[in-house]
Amino acid sequence: MNTHQHNIAIIGGGCAGLSAAATLTERGYSVTLFEASSQLGGRARTVVVENKDLLQLLDNGQHILLGAYHATLSLLEKAGVKENEAFLRLPLQLNMVSSSAKSIFSLKSVNYLPAPFNMLVGFIFCKGLSFKDRITALTFMRHLQSSNYEIINDKPLVKFLKLHHQSAKLIQMLWEPLCLAALNTPIAKASSKIFLNVLRDSFSGNKKNSDFLIPKLDLSKIISHPLAHYIQARGGSIKLNHRIRTLVEVDNGFNLETRQGTFNFSHVIVATSPARTDKLLEQLPKLKTSRDKTDHYQYQPIYTIYLQYPIETKLPQVMCGLSNTISQWVFDRGELCGEKGLLAVIVSAEGKHQKLTQDDLALKVAKELNQAFPQLPKPLWHKVIAEKRATFSCLPDLARPTNRTAQSNLYLAGDYTYASYPATIEGAVRSGIYCANLISNAS
Ligand SMILES: Cc1cc2nc3c(=O)[nH]c(=O)nc-3n(C[C@H](O)[C@H](O)[C@H](O)COP(=O)(O)OP(=O)(O)OC[C@H]3O[C@@H](n4cnc5c(N)ncnc54)[C@H](O)[C@@H]3O)c2cc1C
Repeated sequence: MNTHQHNIAIIGGGCAGLSAAATLTERGYSVTLFEASSQLGGRARTVVVENKDLLQLLDNGQHILLGAYHATLSLLEKAGVKENEAFLRLPLQLNMVSSSAKSIFSLKSVNYLPAPFNMLVGFIFCKGLSFKDRITALTFMRHLQSSNYEIINDKPLVKFLKLHHQSAKLIQMLWEPLCLAALNTPIAKASSKIFLNVLRDSFSGNKKNSDFLIPKLDLSKIISHPLAHYIQARGGSIKLNHRIRTLVEVDNGFNLETRQGTFNFSHVIVATSPARTDKLLEQLPKLKTSRDKTDHYQYQPIYTIYLQYPIETKLPQVMCGLSNTISQWVFDRGELCGEKGLLAVIVSAEGKHQKLTQDDLALKVAKELNQAFPQLPKPLWHKVIAEKRATFSCLPDLARPTNRTAQSNLYLAGDYTYASYPATIEGAVRSGIYCANLISNAS
């Protein structure tokens, strides 16, 4: 039921737009969400792929959430998602396997200890590092805690780690895989400040903050479907296949022009990716400062290589890291989601793999998996999903536009606007809720 005068448009049905719409509709606002494509979810969605004349559902990328994603988890809970049905929650553990089938590094948080001791003791007992490296890592973690994970001058992460005497092995086994997973940016370029924010939120407070939550269902069943249902049940309208072409200021608010016609609204939240925002804001001169910030953004890819093996095929763990290979992480979708024999391999950030054709990349990855897990047979089929602009490059001192803009009643949401985080579901959700709060606090 609309209990306010405002008539609010949200442009973009990814995590940011959906969280803004859910928050506003539950507070009684009239909301219309416009999504350019035929489905919701944006960069966290399930896609239909054709495989040997069969239609198959696959996520556009294997996502992982963290226990520290409080805003996302509570939003999903409100929308009726049951955590134990949607996710496999694992206390933090990193298992790295080499291409010669050896376990070369393993770190596990110690479950019965409170944070931060669960991680500190984990470092003492981790496998694959010399005693000296373990002490160096431990000393570094203690230093980060005592400085509340803050640094004054941002710099590329690899420089920061070297300043703190982290050895090449520690960087290779521990910090680089964590940096790629969290920031999707090569360690030589990644922002130390943002990396430390993620470490602080994961390793301090409740020990569950560092848990991994790995989806057990298709992403759309966990995120966009329940949130769409929640929004519509509260009177919100969702318009798929409605790309906003232009956004202009008029006397009584804003006109949004689509192929299907022009719509008028009193308030607008622009919740598109930064790559799409510039064009939308072109006709709003007051937004120039916001536009200037994202104008020079660079982007990083994420490739997900799905390999189907005979249904009895299993990995030793549901999630495993690979070292010295193009493949970075492999997930056993059979154990996770019941998709028996299906493995998903993630390759984050830019690299030489981008020069390969998709078939050659899949062959290369299959070969690497076979070396790491010699029991694996030949895959039956493969599918590569390449998200070329998966995230913005999370560089040191990257300028981030604020959610409130110089144009009254127009707000920006999206992962890139949540300044203390890299591109994540949690950043996107928090930005959407923050924009909703700005509107409701002002009315
Ligand atoms: C392969 C992959 C793996 C990832 N893994 C993880 C992970 O493990 N953990 C994690 O936390 N994050 C991960 N991320 C990042 C996470 O998915 C994103 O940060 C998050 O989904 C961004 O949400 P958003 O709402 O800000 O933007 P988007 O998801 O990009 O949503 C924007 C929406 O706006 C729509 N749109 C654009 N222009 C218009 C227009 N003119 N009119 C109407 N609609 C428009 C788009 O179609 C899109 O649906 C991953 C991303 C990818 C691609």
